[in-house]
Amino acid sequence: MRTENFNMITLALSKGRIFDETLPLLKTAGIEVLENPETSRKLILPTNQPDLRVVLVRATDVPTYVQYGGADLGVTGQDTLIEHCAEWGATGLYQPLDLRIAQCRMSVAVPAGFDYAGKVKQGARLRVATKYTHTAREFFAAKGVHVDIIKLYGSMELAPLIGMADAIVDLVSSGNTLKANQLVEVEHIMPISSHLVINHAALKLKQEPIRRLIGIFAAAIAQ
Ligand code: ATP
Ligand code: MG
Repeated sequence: MRTENFNMITLALSKGRIFDETLPLLKTAGIEVLENPETSRKLILPTNQPDLRVVLVRATDVPTYVQYGGADLGVTGQDTLIEHCAEWGATGLYQPLDLRIAQCRMSVAVPAGFDYAGKVKQGARLRVATKYTHTAREFFAAKGVHVDIIKLYGSMELAPLIGMADAIVDLVSSGNTLKANQLVEVEHIMPISSHLVINHAALKLKQEPIRRLIGIFAAAIAQ
């Protein structure tokens, strides 16, 4: 018979950048994840702490898991968090800490040669392809630019190349992906990093271990 460990803390991470950059923070407190998500097919990964496990979810699902208590806490990009809260609200989601990992920026990019400034000045309507529809809508509304937002789930760079959009709103770090697709960055919307998010009820019910984890993350980023 399986018995549930009521002291278990569940941390939601997404594969890739966030997982890779969260590991060193945990490591500062001797916490290690015991499986490699790139080679394991498991979605629940044990750690060397009997009362801490990691669940692997899609990056966009991390705030959902934490908000609905599927995980006690999680690490999520601000980009994802802003979109999630715009759509579903932030009720029950405590956001105590900017972990300063997975740093990049949210930008507007257009094909090289597209007269973005001129179009904006003329008051032209722009077709903007993005995964970040709320952020994009808000940014252009504040600028007084009329936009038709085209929602995509990935490979935003393709849309202007094939004439489906005039511009994209996407994350940029090195700028290499933009360059490879003959796109240029024309606006910096905001800097982005990943944050710790915590389920509010879990924080009350499991106060001691969760506060300890917050302390570990806070100390790790202060190093
Ligand atoms: P999925 O692949 O499941 O659709 P995703 O593409 O959003 O999700 P990632 O590309 O791993 O997943 O991005 C996860 C998070 O990492 C983003 O929400 C963002 O905060 C951060 N991130 C994404 N791209 C970059 C980048 N170029 N540089 C730094 N951080 C980034
Ligand atoms: Mg991805």
